[in-house]
Amino acid sequence: MTIRVLSETVVNRIAAGEVVERPASTVKELVENSVDAGARRIEITMRDGGRSFISVADDGAGIAGDELALAVRRHATSKLAGDDLDAIATLGFRGEALPSICAVSRLDIVSRAAGADGAWRIHVEGGRASTPRPAAHAGGTRVEVRDLFFATPARLKFLKSARTELSHAVDAVNRLAMVHPEIGFSLSDGTRTVVRLAATQGELFASRLERLGAIMGREFADNAVAVEAEREGFRLTGHAGLPTLNRANASAQYLFVNGRPVRDKLLFGAVRGAYRDFLASNRNPMLALFLDVPSSAVDVNVHPAKTEVRFRDAGLVRALIVGALRHALAVAGHRASTTVADAALGAFRPEGTGVVQASGAGGPAYAGGRGRGRVPAGFAERAEAFHAPLPGLQAPPAGADADSGDTPDAADGDGADYPLGLARAQVHGTYVLAQTGDGLVIVDQHAAHERLVYERMKRAMEADGVARQGLLIPAVIELEEDACARLGARAAELAELGLVLEPFGPGAVVVREVPALLGETDAAGLVRDLADELAEFDEALSLKERLADVCGTMACHGSVRAGRRLNAREMNALLREMEVTPHSGQCNHGRPTYVELKLADIEKLFGRR
Ligand code: ADP
Ligand code: MG
Repeated sequence: MTIRVLSETVVNRIAAGEVVERPASTVKELVENSVDAGARRIEITMRDGGRSFISVADDGAGIAGDELALAVRRHATSKLAGDDLDAIATLGFRGEALPSICAVSRLDIVSRAAGADGAWRIHVEGGRASTPRPAAHAGGTRVEVRDLFFATPARLKFLKSARTELSHAVDAVNRLAMVHPEIGFSLSDGTRTVVRLAATQGELFASRLERLGAIMGREFADNAVAVEAEREGFRLTGHAGLPTLNRANASAQYLFVNGRPVRDKLLFGAVRGAYRDFLASNRNPMLALFLDVPSSAVDVNVHPAKTEVRFRDAGLVRALIVGALRHALAVAGHRASTTVADAALGAFRPEGTGVVQASGAGGPAYAGGRGRGRVPAGFAERAEAFHAPLPGLQAPPAGADADSGDTPDAADGDGADYPLGLARAQVHGTYVLAQTGDGLVIVDQHAAHERLVYERMKRAMEADGVARQGLLIPAVIELEEDACARLGARAAELAELGLVLEPFGPGAVVVREVPALLGETDAAGLVRDLADELAEFDEALSLKERLADVCGTMACHGSVRAGRRLNAREMNALLREMEVTPHSGQCNHGRPTYVELKLADIEKLFGRR
């Protein structure tokens, strides 16, 4: 056998297998190049889901005629000035995308460099590039890819339907568009524009929220809180949806590191951790988070597609995300998302007039605006007939209520002074009805109280530490040496959380006290989990998690049950405490604790508007 160096064509085809997995990855690479070139407008066209034709046109810096041939050469890039992989400020840097695409398709580039006299065109097919020729082109760059994967039929077979491939591309474009609200994007499938995002200007948070709303739906923009935090040069910004706005999967979680869309386990895990208190484990929040870290603190060079990253200090990143999200959600206070009211109104309305949730290609589209107030034709007229008082009906005495023997005094005011209003009645021993300045609020008394008790318990734990309980017989747990060392180093912190342990020779720890809350607990299992977490995240997650779980259960048992009568003072006290307690808009499982209906919406319901 003789050893021989692979030809450039073969090398490029192999690389293409990783860099251009499908049409969407081709689109992503080309759009990234346009972003790197400083474009303000990027126009994309895909035919047959990108199989027969992809074109990406921009108004960026362009490529000089004498550099066109270099641009399609392997490992040729204008983006890495020195040899420093630690100082990457652009999306590209490997010089792999264009040669990889060339290796598996027929490619044309026409470009006019800023300030140049004319434009140039180059054609590449089967890995061979033509000599650049003068061309007519107003400015910027247009890259056209025809017959993607014609050179690698095996790959062609793995492509899905045109619609599926298109939707993947839409997702890739949307992600890049979230990072760059200042760039206008459009994507057409040849007959229809499926993405149209106007460039937005102004302050970052505002323009970003506008862009996020355009992509993730109005309801997200209406129900998101701003996130902003910084630690040791790591900066996190973005918008996070209220817990009551949740989804069955994590597809509406958009994460970015240094302007790069990523799908990173560590980051998804941190998000889950931050929302754990507010959402059932099978529900997922909607959010877009942008993490900016010194480029020396992160390695984006893990994979050619660059969607995975590796952090030098994973614990810091996790703590930053969890802390920032918790804080942002706490600031949101008792807010529950408007979608709760939309859903309630939808349920009241005659069939077919509720909120319409449509999903277009590749993303959560939101149809019908707020979906409110559309009353079917003829309904208002029919309702009108019932507005006249029914003959013979006596007005009930003020304050009387069929269900509640303890009706609040009507002289209390009109509720305008309080966000959650003044309690008017309790119905079915379960719900508190309150009147607000411009509507009414229905509170699930058990869910609300459970949340309040839970928050109180957490505050007490933070203030006074966790009560501990000595073990009759201290438990000796054998572990690897470095695990013992890690636990030993964090012993003081663990003691604050109620777990008292100390090293016991080189390969074991001895546990003397455990959090009283946990009762009979499997100390060995807990300690092993903690050792793993300290290694991975530098944080004692499962101890905190278990404590939180117990608090949750205790809060549930210690709360006013549904079915208990509350008097006016109790009901109003509940409302007032909800107003000042963070996270009180949802129970521990992300269900709302109250629903607010605006008078205007109620009036529409009755055809009064
Ligand atoms: P990389 O982006 O990693 O540098 P590519 O193969 O994607 O590698 O592109 C090679 C080079 O071609 C880039 O470094 C850039 O100089 C040039 N280039 C590609 N696309 C564009 C574009 N749309 N506008 C301006 N220059 C471009
Ligand atoms: Mg590139």
